[in-house]
Amino acid sequence: MNTLILSTSEEDINLAASFIKEGGVVGMPTETVYGLAANALDENAVRRIFEAKGRPSDNPLIVHIAEFDDIERYGLVSEVPEVAKLLADKFWPGPLTIIMPKSDKVPEITTGGLDTVAVRLPSDKNAQRLIRASGCPLAAPSANISGSPSPTTANHVYSDMSGKISAVIDGGECRVGLESTVVSVKDDVVTVLRPGGVTVEDLEAVYDKVEVCDAVLNKLKEGETALSPGMKYKHYSPNARVILVKGGDKAYYDFINKQNKEDTITLCYKEDEDFVRIPAILMGSKADLEAQAHNLFADLRLIDACENVKTAYVRCPGTEGIGMAVLNRLIRAAGFEVIDLD
Ligand code: AMP
Ligand code: MG
Repeated sequence: MNTLILSTSEEDINLAASFIKEGGVVGMPTETVYGLAANALDENAVRRIFEAKGRPSDNPLIVHIAEFDDIERYGLVSEVPEVAKLLADKFWPGPLTIIMPKSDKVPEITTGGLDTVAVRLPSDKNAQRLIRASGCPLAAPSANISGSPSPTTANHVYSDMSGKISAVIDGGECRVGLESTVVSVKDDVVTVLRPGGVTVEDLEAVYDKVEVCDAVLNKLKEGETALSPGMKYKHYSPNARVILVKGGDKAYYDFINKQNKEDTITLCYKEDEDFVRIPAILMGSKADLEAQAHNLFADLRLIDACENVKTAYVRCPGTEGIGMAVLNRLIRAAGFEVIDLD
């Protein structure tokens, strides 16, 4: 299959929508990361997403809509809980995914066999245009090969998916750069299953019962059931070994400058540049958490683009704001390997 790179012109969006109407898969820009989009209500189309990604079949997909009323229009859920209405009102369109009880119209393959469905209304105008032009809700997981860093440019999508999908729409760099925040809304409690562009602080500002699932920053315990199936898989990993390094500046510089510069690299802050004597990828300023989130996946992809790199030591971010989402991705990229220098 020849994968087209399309622009965001009316003509190209319509062409992409025609691929989707035929049951095809298209790379879709969103404000979080690029998605691999197909008709969420068409079992065969959704199967093609799983095949293109090599995604385990029990890991459910997020269903993307262009307006709140699409939930009813397409009959996606059996009920919209009151708390979900409140969250949608405050954070949609935007990087928040809400898990709700599913209807029979959503095929089991889309929800990985669960009786709930994850729904999101993206703020990216091109994503909204594609959903509208397709005339159906779009199931869209991140458009990377399962396990590798998520794509934040059309080129990332093309390098992972060329030959496997009909087209990718080039909508430029994703604004947030990290996937959406995934929440469940059971028994009036909002539980964060995956942190993302909407922060815990943002949620707490509009609702008083917000919890963060333990597995967000910790490894699942032996035999523990994942509330969100995505939690149990290895994720976001470059080929090189990634290790997180916790510690103050001095301890970090002492540690990092002892490493072998031939096959080791570090991901650190802009402020570290003058103190680090091995090759470094700068993640942004220490205080600029948005920039770190925005650059994270491109930085992880860059590790493998550097020749001979076997190990990447990454400075461990804090958990405030979107830092929690950055840490959630990094700790998985590192397979939970952390060196604590304090
Ligand atoms: P991705 O498609 O890469 O953005 O990942 C979607 C995330 O949402 C994965 O971690 C899924 O496990 C999670 N997810 C999707 N649908 C559900 C659901 N119905 N219940 C719990 N988690 C879900
Ligand atoms: Mg993903």
